Amino acid sequence: MYCNYCNKEIIDAKRPKGNTDYSKVYRSSEHIIQNAIGGRLESEKICCDRCNFHLEELIDKSFCDIFVPFISNINNFKKTNNSNNAPKCSGYAIYNEGNKNKMVFADVIKKSKVKKSNELIKIEKEAGTKNLDERIKNCLNEMRVAFKNFNLDNNYFKQGISKIAYNYAIYLGINIKNISNVCDVTLDSENKELISINFNTIVIPFVPGNAFDDFLELHTKFTLFHNLILFRYGKELWCYINLFNTFQFYVRLSDNYDDGENIRYKIYGQEFQYMQSNMNTNHNIYSDIIMEKAKEYTASGYKYVDTLSYNFYIKQNKLNNYFRIENPLRKFDKGEYEIIFYPWWIIQAKDKEEIIEYTTKKYIQLNQYLIKDNPTILDSELFSMSKEDREKFVELYLKSIKSS
Ligand SMILES: [Zn+2]
Repeated sequence: MYCNYCNKEIIDAKRPKGNTDYSKVYRSSEHIIQNAIGGRLESEKICCDRCNFHLEELIDKSFCDIFVPFISNINNFKKTNNSNNAPKCSGYAIYNEGNKNKMVFADVIKKSKVKKSNELIKIEKEAGTKNLDERIKNCLNEMRVAFKNFNLDNNYFKQGISKIAYNYAIYLGINIKNISNVCDVTLDSENKELISINFNTIVIPFVPGNAFDDFLELHTKFTLFHNLILFRYGKELWCYINLFNTFQFYVRLSDNYDDGENIRYKIYGQEFQYMQSNMNTNHNIYSDIIMEKAKEYTASGYKYVDTLSYNFYIKQNKLNNYFRIENPLRKFDKGEYEIIFYPWWIIQAKDKEEIIEYTTKKYIQLNQYLIKDNPTILDSELFSMSKEDREKFVELYLKSIKSS
């Protein structure tokens, strides 16, 4: 077996203790979704022990740091630091300013409390506020965290999410030759160790394009999970990635992939991972919701044979799977519909504004779910704020993926 990154032949054994002869590489288990963000699926078919080590340094550490503000709030999360020291982070917070909700940048947030906001100080100074210190203190006290900053303003997010897609494809048996041109690897000229890596994938944020997906995403009880779907559409190979039921993206791994089957699309595999070990709810809760809604849809004129196109697949009255590959634009009353490839539909039909609005809603859902000891802000409050305020954070969110 060969390593999919450095191409060296892997010795089918663990590296002997103290062995530093890196011209030889050994067996190693790589997590598909990074262990530090709760990924449990792992495989020894992906890379050697040396590449595993380098990938951690080159991509995983920085990628996983982005999620620290959430992870510290997830109950029973195994990878959480064992102390009560919630990590400090920055973010956005709102407070009431003359009957209007105003959002400011919070430089230091600790345990859902805003400790410092330079923007607030500046605003109050400029307004010539008397008793400045007291006013600031009061404002900070009543401030509510809208969302914690997750520093997506870097390339690590794209690299990390692309690596998940790439590894998942290898895990499912996709021939590396078909996807290797989205992954630029540089090896050291002497010892052939991995020294840099860059994924040049296309990454597209998910936005619901029909009533069914909208319902599922925004009007059902929020649960924490990761979800991966690898699929081919025509000659394109894509992976749908959903992290924390919030960060939802399509990653394109190939535009010239052919497995010889003459069908419109094919699913290679789907993976669901629930995040909380203390979840006493049924782990199939998500499937149940989909099933319930799917029945409703089929009852109201959605033809059984068409359900494949409607992103869920029902067999013998049981939900078999749920995909987001095609987005039907439907006119059922007239028996007409048009099937559009979901990612391209998002690119073509969704303007930035809509992506911002959806992204904001999803992100707020996650924060409301996690920030339990803090009176969370409501959607209505969020949307009562100025557009500029809302755009502030989504700008950050989208920056990292725009470049593709
Ligand atoms: Zn390797």
